[in-house]
Amino acid sequence: MAMSDSAKNTMTDKEKNNNTIDTPEGTEEHREQVVIPLLQHRGAACEPLVEVEDTVVRGQKIGEGEDGFAVSIHSSVSGRVIAIEDRLHPHCSKQPSIIIESDGTSESIKFKTSKNPSKAQILNSLEDAGIIELNGYPTYNILLTEKIIDTVLLNLTNIGDVSSNCTGENISKIIAGVKLLMTASDASQAAIIVNKNNKQIASAIRSRLGANTKVITVKRNYMPSMTNLLAYDMTSIRISTTGTPADAGVIVSSAHSALAVERAVLEGIPLIDVNLTVSGMISAPCVKTVSIGTSFHDVVQSCGGYAGEPGKIIMNGMLSGTAQVTDEVSVIKTTTEITAQGPLEVLREKTGSCVHCARCVDVCPVNILPGRIAAFADVGKYDECEKLHVQSCVECGLCAYVCPSSRHNLQLIRFAKTALLQGFKIPEEKQYPTIKLGCQSCNHPCHMWAPLDGIPLKGGSKE
Ligand code: SF4
Ligand code: SF4
Repeated sequence: MAMSDSAKNTMTDKEKNNNTIDTPEGTEEHREQVVIPLLQHRGAACEPLVEVEDTVVRGQKIGEGEDGFAVSIHSSVSGRVIAIEDRLHPHCSKQPSIIIESDGTSESIKFKTSKNPSKAQILNSLEDAGIIELNGYPTYNILLTEKIIDTVLLNLTNIGDVSSNCTGENISKIIAGVKLLMTASDASQAAIIVNKNNKQIASAIRSRLGANTKVITVKRNYMPSMTNLLAYDMTSIRISTTGTPADAGVIVSSAHSALAVERAVLEGIPLIDVNLTVSGMISAPCVKTVSIGTSFHDVVQSCGGYAGEPGKIIMNGMLSGTAQVTDEVSVIKTTTEITAQGPLEVLREKTGSCVHCARCVDVCPVNILPGRIAAFADVGKYDECEKLHVQSCVECGLCAYVCPSSRHNLQLIRFAKTALLQGFKIPEEKQYPTIKLGCQSCNHPCHMWAPLDGIPLKGGSKE
């Protein structure tokens, strides 16, 4: 992967003292920069409210959406806007971003604190603060549902979220955030969902619980994309692929968002910092609070740098996170983890044929056929993927993790989901009648596993 020039170096004494970016010899000192993408959630990008050369302070709103599903963004530093241009985004595309050079001060807007806010005040604060759930949906929009909400579920089974946010002093704030979500959604109760093996968190939460709130221990970890499944497991109410937990009368939130809700509503601070777990091949792995827009490279340097040459950087966990093409991408509102893998840890094996072991089927939490769907996705037959309910996939990554043939099941499934969302259709005449499913045990080459090149993907069209 492409690393910045100094990626292989560990932190210098000067960096440790100043926590600034490397200063090349003979040049003016580089000031700390943040790159804040105008799109950080599932929805529309916002429009910049500032221009190049404007000065901004911490917490100042610098981007606002025009439609109802856009999320405001705020400056995480005090300084000067030096550019508004496309920059690499951690979800692997370029997005328009506001680049701010910090002046090194902590000047900020006046944060307005609040006590016992009403439902309307909470909703206003959440809209202003630009809070996003870890699955990318704006918290404010989730709360605007017309469905009757009975319960707020706080998912504390997502390992990255828990390790980053559930530190001692944050637990009380998280519970306060849950209470605010209950008020905002008119829910009469809340349940904190904890993995049964995480006894420490369960007891820390239990000791601080208020009325109408209980802890429920579960056997599995629910990733942010598994909110519908979590809602179903808790209520036994089925939710359609296009539905939301509100269909089962619940709101699902996370420690990350509950903490942000508490800060926004009671302390008046918008979402400008996130707590991160920095782990893997790092000199000093740690949990730290980072300004949104800080590059992964700077975060790693502030943890002592890489402990050797990195092989891969992953955002938000190794199972279903996103591998980065460079460490120059910036931390966004939904970043909870940065993991550096060494070259030997990175999977380089060649993908083999499916041996029909069905391990992927056994582990799939939504009971679909991952290997079969991935096979269709591999040859561009997205209509078949649709018939096999590819849109029900919650992208947990387990089917790729357990596959003995190292098949890229998750990547292929994501590809098919994206293609279907974009209305991809294969013209009849370009479909491949020779493609068939079946046993791989004979010696004949099977069309099912033909390489992607030249197969219908290129012959398809968008409606
Ligand atoms: S990633 Fe694989 S195992 Fe997980 S839900 Fe999707 S198909 Fe099932
Ligand atoms: S895709 Fe992998 S895990 Fe699934 S049946 Fe084939 S070999 Fe087994």
